[in-house]
Amino acid sequence: MSALTIEQVLLQAYQHIDKIDAHLLLQHILAVNPTFLLTHSDQTLTTAQTNRFLHCVLQRSTGIPIAYLIGQREFYDNVFKVSDAVLIPRPETELLVDLALNLIPADRACRILDLGTGSGAIAITIAKHRTLSQVTAVDLSADAISIADWNTKNLQVSNVRLVIGNWFSELSNEKFDLIVTNPPYVAESDPHLQQGDLRFEPKLALSAGHSGMNCINHIIQAAPQYLEKSGWLLLEHGYDQANKCKQLLKRGNFTKICSYPDLAGIMRVSGGQFSASS
Ligand code: GLN
Repeated sequence: MSALTIEQVLLQAYQHIDKIDAHLLLQHILAVNPTFLLTHSDQTLTTAQTNRFLHCVLQRSTGIPIAYLIGQREFYDNVFKVSDAVLIPRPETELLVDLALNLIPADRACRILDLGTGSGAIAITIAKHRTLSQVTAVDLSADAISIADWNTKNLQVSNVRLVIGNWFSELSNEKFDLIVTNPPYVAESDPHLQQGDLRFEPKLALSAGHSGMNCINHIIQAAPQYLEKSGWLLLEHGYDQANKCKQLLKRGNFTKICSYPDLAGIMRVSGGQFSASS
């Protein structure tokens, strides 16, 4: 096979996958920026580059998420390494980070806990924006923690502590000023689990029991024991779970309970402040 040009391999790819995905894959393989592909369309690829690209195109055509194929995803203001051991960070989760940053003063050392950290996107983003604070990031999956560890080092964050554990299991008597979490919350029977990227993401990070509320329920019930007096809990949840979360928070002695919409206008994060009964 004679050497193919950028334009030729892209034309082949378009027959199988979206244009935008083809460009992302080729940019990644050639380690070039988006305009390079347009300005160098007649440049030839090595056989190794062509084979690698066409292999990725084939994988993408079977539905494997683009983030897993290129091994990374942008979130907030950084790029995070991802693998199929972690949920791919979502734009709607940036709301959780914004709300957390609003609650954490920049001039004081706060203690923050991120439950189910996955790639570490939430914990690391908060830590980078609140350098005086200490962030503890927990995940049950050792593979997820090793991805989060890689991200911590790559993004040069020194105020994140990574812990392998089952929610609060390794935290004994620790207390935090803020607990944030994007737990699994999709109902087991939700057809979305059989669609798009979700088919390839870890079930451990996505689904939680019949109604999807198992983990949220557990976290809201257990959180008060790990919160400072007047500490806050913020949870991401499913499109139809805001009211259930607010009821659970009310039962758990939280006040200032509120839900917040994501960019699509869907109530996506709920939270409250713990008011310890004296
Ligand atoms: N927001 C994700 C989705 O429905 C689910 C993430 C989660 O379960 N934490 O695609």
